[in-house]
Amino acid sequence: MNRLSDKSRLSKSVATATNGQGQLVVTSTPIGNLGDLSPRARSILETAGMIACEDTRHTGLMLHRLGITHGKLIAYHDHSSPGVADGIIKAIAEGTTVALVSDAGTPLLSDPGYKLVDACLERDLRVVAIPGPSALLAALVTAGLPTDRFFFAGFLPQQKSRRQRELASLAGLDATLVFYESPRRLLACLADMDTLLPFRDIAVARELTKQHEETRRGTAQSLIAHFEINPPKGEIVVMAGPCRQKAEPEPAELAAMVAAEMDKGASRRDAVRHVAKATGVPRSRIYDISLHAPAQDK
Ligand code: SAM
Repeated sequence: MNRLSDKSRLSKSVATATNGQGQLVVTSTPIGNLGDLSPRARSILETAGMIACEDTRHTGLMLHRLGITHGKLIAYHDHSSPGVADGIIKAIAEGTTVALVSDAGTPLLSDPGYKLVDACLERDLRVVAIPGPSALLAALVTAGLPTDRFFFAGFLPQQKSRRQRELASLAGLDATLVFYESPRRLLACLADMDTLLPFRDIAVARELTKQHEETRRGTAQSLIAHFEINPPKGEIVVMAGPCRQKAEPEPAELAAMVAAEMDKGASRRDAVRHVAKATGVPRSRIYDISLHAPAQDK
């Protein structure tokens, strides 16, 4: 069915209907291009009873640039004193719409907000999102790496040994890995990826949605060579595609695969050819293994 013609699924309303109930509205804001603010985000920022933000000066400036004049900004982050969160929760419980924003992009993604959302849900208070810009998804969809399975790992630890441990712990994941990174640490991060994430295509997305936006792909070494000559500036997302070299199946597994093909009526030669194609293991090796495998119980 054409979803756009299915009116029950779509709403043109910019306002978030609440029947007078208070709510926390997790609101995404631009990551560089003010034109990316959605009409719903604008509407909620114009009408919310309170805007909880990381830094009132930063968000005040953004609102000014967006032409939104709003009185009630309140600083909130995950380590704010309990009194701050309590004040926000009390206001929502009393019927206020509170917009939660971060300095840029989508709150909670390497940004504050998780504890507040959790606390609201614990008290059965309404939480909704106004989705929109996020460096995570903008980087992922422009990198040309597989997107069917991806793992967002946020910022890597700054300390070398901890960063290397973290990369080593992710090396076995069969997915595209996405990291936020600072330009100062990019070269060190790529060097660690070169040793700890072998056989993965690497991409670096920089300054997304801004004037000097660029996405660059290659091996970790080719990217190191580029960024040594062109020192990276601005905001950066680093991605590592899935490992191109899969681990070889155990001999018993290869023998079982050949046996399964032969049970279906294939000759040993055809079965070996089929398994070699599926696994990338050389035919001679599979042939050898299948000949010497113990007979399987039926
Ligand atoms: N919550 C935000 C989001 O949804 O995009 C991310 C906040 S995190 C504190 C900031 C990091 O996001 C930056 O250090 C950078 O790694 C990445 N980032 C933010 N804006 C970006 C942009 N325009 N281009 C590339 N990376 C960006």
